[in-house]
Amino acid sequence: MGHEEAGGFHGICLNYVFSGTKSHRQILSYPDQQALSTIRVRFAPSPTGFLHVGGLRTALYNFLFARKHAGVFILRIEDTDRSRYVPGAVDNLIRTLAWAGLVYDEGPGKGGDRGPYVQSERLTLYAEYAAQLVKEGKAYYDFDDQEDAEEAEKNVDGAPVQRAITRHAHLLTPEEIARRLAAGESAAVRMHVPAATTIAFDDDIRGHVEFASDLINDQVILKSDGYPTYHLANVVDDHLMGVTHVIRGEEWLPSTPKHVLLYEYFGWQRPSFAHLPLLLNPDRTKLSKRQGDVAVEDYQRKGYLPEALVNFIALLGWNPGDEREIFSLEELIREFSVERVGKSGAVFNIDKLNSVNKHYLRERADRDLAALVRPLLEEQGIGGISDAYLEQVIRLTKERVTTLRDVATVGDFFFADPAVFDGDAVKKNWKADSPRCVTGAADALETMTKFTAAAIEQTIRSAAEQLGVGAGKLIHPLRLALTGKATGPGLFELMEVLGKETCVRRLRHALDTRV
Ligand code: GLU
Repeated sequence: MGHEEAGGFHGICLNYVFSGTKSHRQILSYPDQQALSTIRVRFAPSPTGFLHVGGLRTALYNFLFARKHAGVFILRIEDTDRSRYVPGAVDNLIRTLAWAGLVYDEGPGKGGDRGPYVQSERLTLYAEYAAQLVKEGKAYYDFDDQEDAEEAEKNVDGAPVQRAITRHAHLLTPEEIARRLAAGESAAVRMHVPAATTIAFDDDIRGHVEFASDLINDQVILKSDGYPTYHLANVVDDHLMGVTHVIRGEEWLPSTPKHVLLYEYFGWQRPSFAHLPLLLNPDRTKLSKRQGDVAVEDYQRKGYLPEALVNFIALLGWNPGDEREIFSLEELIREFSVERVGKSGAVFNIDKLNSVNKHYLRERADRDLAALVRPLLEEQGIGGISDAYLEQVIRLTKERVTTLRDVATVGDFFFADPAVFDGDAVKKNWKADSPRCVTGAADALETMTKFTAAAIEQTIRSAAEQLGVGAGKLIHPLRLALTGKATGPGLFELMEVLGKETCVRRLRHALDTRV
């Protein structure tokens, strides 16, 4: 086989499994001591076209765990389900992980000495391991191959699949099997699942977990098209890639007893397992598209900052043990521990994400934000804006936006004359003597040479005095005429950014059209 690990069948051998007795057996396996070896973890997504926020959390926790323990973080692409193949999905996944700052040490495009890291490039390997199990009587050819995509789905969702106790293939003699294979009949390979057995393991988050083998079908491990199923490929790769800790979503928990069995069959030391709690909608149903966005790319497009999304996601399941809510990636690496990950589902609360995003927007330099906002503006046809101008816009709007995308709406008047005037604002701020006040202000502004916020304020205040009104009588209609709204950034500052010409033009226009 060319793989040392595949050699003997050592360790805890389940030689009683096929003894045919009806008595109840227990398989209880513990991972061997791993204290001295380097920690190796992996994120093993199936490329379905986008990265689910739950996937980002799995990737993040693996990343944090690896970094904290000076371990290795692997990206492995599990793409053996060809019916779900989406072109471009892997590149998208890699780009999204990079956006989030989750740098992997080994994986596609990065290399590493345990590759290839894409399962479709490892097919012969799985076939060899499946053949080994057949040879050792731990798996068998099934000529009645109903591809078990359906079955796998059901298992993944945790619904018990009724075990097919007697299988036609069991009854075939070795000669019959050899004859049918030689005749070119296609066959899947199924692993035996022992009857009346409890399969148990200790999960690092959920504690002791037991499964009754009678609820587990004999699993297809190699399909008749030569592709492995998730179970075989996952176990073979975790082993060959030296994975010490499997940290994955709770939806994979029903698969774990099958994996435990495979580790036993191969005689391999198994990794330790930690199954992360589900992500939930606010109504505590499983996080779904129907109630909000589930793709990381959606949040990226909407203008959430990666550090905000990562900070928010980190707290979905893990808690730091106190009330803190803001964590940099470095702090997360320092403080993260699997022991502080809870068992119960974590609610994806968009308000919390919004407040975390606001926090990080304020922390970022205006110049950084301008670079991020520019493409979002361009998408909306807003172009030809200088860096300096955009930075000023950011400076004045960043306290008022929740996402980067909001700059285009909160600050729309920076990019075009107001097209509409807010009706309520007009009622409230455009009074009978507003035309007189605004005319006085426009005349005074026109004479200015140094158009700075301080100078504008002085000019407006003295214009108000000359008109015999309080400054508010000018400020409110001015804001309305210049921005179309009743509230927004400081008036004198926004006027400085707009510039004298634009301000005067807008004021005269408002007067002409009576707003
Ligand atoms: N390919 C599986 C997924 O898409 C991996 C599950 C695991 O980590 O074992 O999530």
